[in-house]
Amino acid sequence: EIAPRDKRAVGFYSRNYDIYSESRLTLMSDLREALHNSTTAIHYQPKLCLINDEIVGLEALIRWHHPERGWVFPVDFIPLAEDTGVITQLTRWVFENSIRELDSILTDYPQLEISINISARDLVSGDLRELIEPMLARIEPGRLTLELTETAAMEDPEKGLIALKALADLGLKVSIDDFGSGYSSLSYLKRLPATEIKLDRSLITDICTSESSRVIVATAINMAHGLGYRLVAEGVENEETGRLLKTMGCDRLQGFWLCHPLPVEKLKLWLAEHRSAF
Ligand code: C2E
Ligand code: MG
Ligand code: MG
Ligand code: MG
Repeated sequence: EIAPRDKRAVGFYSRNYDIYSESRLTLMSDLREALHNSTTAIHYQPKLCLINDEIVGLEALIRWHHPERGWVFPVDFIPLAEDTGVITQLTRWVFENSIRELDSILTDYPQLEISINISARDLVSGDLRELIEPMLARIEPGRLTLELTETAAMEDPEKGLIALKALADLGLKVSIDDFGSGYSSLSYLKRLPATEIKLDRSLITDICTSESSRVIVATAINMAHGLGYRLVAEGVENEETGRLLKTMGCDRLQGFWLCHPLPVEKLKLWLAEHRSAF
C-alpha cells in the first residue's frame, strides 16, 4: 500500500514539456524495461454498490517502484508513456497481468467486475481488440470495463470511436473516467458506447461542505440516469461523503474511505473480510 500523492493540481494534461529530453527518454526506457521484467505491479481498488451495499468491482492501477527513484506515480509516467507510445506496451502488460493475477478472485467472487484504464492512444494506435479477444476465454466480456479518460489528446476521435464500438460489440463495458475534470464534452459523450460515468474526484471532495458542489453532483447524477448511465463517484475519502452520495442516488463509489488500492494478496484478505460487511 502506497501513500497517496496528489499532483493533479499541477495539471495532469499539461504537456508543455519536451518528451525527448534525456531524463524523460531514460525514464521511458526504464519503464519499458520494468514492464519487460515485470517489476511494475498492479494494485486494485474495490468499488462499492450503493444500491445493494455489495463490493461489485475492482479497478486496476499500475504501480512502479524504480530502483533509484523509488515509487514513481502514474501521473509522472502515464502522460509521457502516452506521448512516446510506450502506453501500448503498458496497457498490454496491465491487461495480461491483471487477468492472470485475479484468476482465483474472478472465480470466488462471480459478481465482481474488473475495470482497466485505457488511454485514447490505445484506441487510435494499438490493437486492443487483438489484445483483449483471447482473454475473453478467462473472463466474460460483460465483467470487463474499459475506463477511458476523455482528453484533448484524442487525436483521431473518429478512429477512436470505431475502435471503442468494436470493443463494445464484443460485450465489454465502457466507462468515462474523470468526468467533469476539464475535457469532457457532452456532445462527444453522447456518441460514446458507454454505460458508466465516473465523476471526477475534484467534484466529489467537498460535497458535504459546498452547496454548489452538491448541486453539480446532483445534476450529474440526474443527467447520467436520464441518459441511462450508471454513475460512479471517485475519491470518496470519508463516511459522511459516502452517506450523502447514497442519499443523492449515486450508484457506486470508490475511494480511500472504502479501501486504498491493494496488491492482490492483501486484496484477497480484504475481500474475505468484507464479504458481507456493508
Ligand atoms: P484514475 O483512473 O482516475 O484513478 C483514480 C486515482 O485516484 C488513482 O490514482 C487512485 O489511487 C486515486 N484514488 C482513489 N481513491 C482516492 C481517494 O479517496 N482520494 C485520493 N486523493 N485519491 C484516490 P493513481 O493510481 O495514482 O492513478 C492516477 C491516474 O493514472 C489514474 O486516474 C489513471 O488515469 C492513470 N492510471 C493509473 N493506472 C493506469 C493504467 O494501468 N493504465 C492507464 N492507461 N492509466 C493508468
Ligand atoms: Mg480510472
Ligand atoms: Mg478516474
Ligand atoms: Mg480521476
